[in-house]
Amino acid sequence: MTITAPAAAIGSAHALKCRECGALYPLDASYACFECFGPLEVAYEAASVTREQIEAGPNSIWRYEALLPVLPGAGNRPGLQPGFTKLVRADNLAAALGAETVWVKDDSGNPTHSFKDRVVAVALENARRLGYQTISCASTGNLANAVAAAAARAGLKSVVFVPSNLEAGKIVTTAVYGGTLVAIDGNYDDVNRLCTEVAAQRDWGFVNVNLRPYYAEGSKTVGYEIAEQLGWRLPDAIVSPVASGSLMTKVDKAFREFVQLGLVDDRGYQMFGAQATGCSPVSQAFRDGHDFCKPVKPNTIAKSLAIGNPADGPYALDIARRTGGAIADVSDDEVVEGIKLLARTEGIFAETAGGVVVATYRKLLREGLVDPGAEVVLLNTGDGLKTLDAVAPTSQPTITISPSFDDFEAAYNEVSA
Ligand SMILES: *Cc1c(COP(=O)(O)O)cnc(C)c1O
Ligand SMILES: [Zn+2]
Repeated sequence: MTITAPAAAIGSAHALKCRECGALYPLDASYACFECFGPLEVAYEAASVTREQIEAGPNSIWRYEALLPVLPGAGNRPGLQPGFTKLVRADNLAAALGAETVWVKDDSGNPTHSFKDRVVAVALENARRLGYQTISCASTGNLANAVAAAAARAGLKSVVFVPSNLEAGKIVTTAVYGGTLVAIDGNYDDVNRLCTEVAAQRDWGFVNVNLRPYYAEGSKTVGYEIAEQLGWRLPDAIVSPVASGSLMTKVDKAFREFVQLGLVDDRGYQMFGAQATGCSPVSQAFRDGHDFCKPVKPNTIAKSLAIGNPADGPYALDIARRTGGAIADVSDDEVVEGIKLLARTEGIFAETAGGVVVATYRKLLREGLVDPGAEVVLLNTGDGLKTLDAVAPTSQPTITISPSFDDFEAAYNEVSA
């Protein structure tokens, strides 16, 4: 039995649609197909919007309101107004890597310093619409941070679930907003399983469980912004971090939508995915030529990407293959090198996920999988201040001296020799 979606549309969104069998469902809090258990995605009527209409909008994700599943006027309601982060031209990094044109989409500039503010903002609009009083999530850190802050601003309750071994920089920056922070002795996949059970029992809006179809659409705004900030055109290549695989798939969706809307020219672009070797189920499946990911037990300093059983893994694989891209992984040592390379060349301090992206791009160049002449956009999705432990052991004062000029001269001459 296929339930037909009711006429009640949310902006240009008109239904939830199964990504596997195409069955349609109403725009409520559901995420899996009753017929085939496939994941649900928001489907839109032929939306239409012009460059001028977008440019006249606010400097936040809400300039793309017409392409998101939200009631009109989202930008006028109390929120953290994420998005429209900087697209930084990274010539020093390009030179260091022997590449031509590199950009960094720096999402550390969001209100809680990661791209998760985007997905939470779209999920929260739908939580409000559906009448939830409590907002919740299963998180590898940044999502909990974003949910706690957005709930505080919206005057809603939050209950967020994280693995107990998270970085202090993610525990403290979440707890400070109030709300309930539940630390679980287990990995993210354990946390996620528990949240699916809690979501079935409690009337809470879990942004990445029962509100996941809406949440996921928020990631499209990364792609929209890149195209607009490049002057309404697409780059040759994107390197995206991969945890569940949602961000990578939605940046691709954003590009395809912009082409369909006639906002940018249709040109080939390649999508590359980046993982840490200690949690690389999607990269392994890419290498082995598989369509599905074999779940792994994560063990990496890139905790924000530590999802051992990635929901959107098969879709990320499909996109990498369809666009002539790849999914690759790098060791924790390379992650640290990636963080430092970006910091030293461009003055951008990325969290471990950003280090994964920079190091993966370097590896793809070395292996000849990406053309050094390709114009590439690297996604920096988070802020290094939240993952200080990764670089602290190798980032200490160059010299420590007494407040004496002679001591300074002697010590400085020694280190600068
Ligand atoms: C959540 C997260 C990602 C990736 O998320 P997906 O689940 O693949 O959409 C990337 N970087 C950071 C910093 C994150 O917090
Ligand atoms: Zn289905």
